[in-house]
Amino acid sequence: MKTIAVYPGSFDPPTYGHLDIVDRSSRVFSRVIVAVARNIRKNVLFTTSERMEMLRKLTRSYSNVEIDSFRGLLVDYARDKGAHVVVRGLRAISDFEYEFQMAHMNKKLAPEVDTVFMMTGERYSYISSNIVKEIAGFGGKIDDLVPPMVREQVLRKIRKGK
Ligand code: ADP
Repeated sequence: MKTIAVYPGSFDPPTYGHLDIVDRSSRVFSRVIVAVARNIRKNVLFTTSERMEMLRKLTRSYSNVEIDSFRGLLVDYARDKGAHVVVRGLRAISDFEYEFQMAHMNKKLAPEVDTVFMMTGERYSYISSNIVKEIAGFGGKIDDLVPPMVREQVLRKIRKGK
């Protein structure tokens, strides 16, 4: 059976933590759709197109990974794509409560779609897009958190905003 997985998120910007989840998902599932959330609620640094463009470049070498975006309910999008699985990463207990609630709600809305959690890679457990933006905003080094291409984009945005 071909298993299609959707890996949703803000990816503002993509980090080594996200890429680790993409890499591992690509080995487990036949097709992985990295879906950038077009949510208006969040204060974002990058536009959806910019986030998608970065992800496209970073995942070029994976033949079974594609980049897309979605608006509205994740389960509607997953259904639309014929996906069986939603992939989420777990970093800490603090992630758990929200993820637990979302997974249950999504299961209620779409019983045929399952949420699969991947434990963060040990080296990436402390990385989040917010931390990247915060450190970069104060002029700190983000080399260990994001690929060089993302670093350039973050610094460019921050310079522009100042
Ligand atoms: P969201 O706004 O949906 O939380 P994020 O871009 O912050 O979007 O994260 C997308 C997914 O990637 C989430 O499931 C999150 O837990 C996971 N993730 C983010 N950073 C890491 C990391 N360092 N290690 C493992 N998973 C991560």
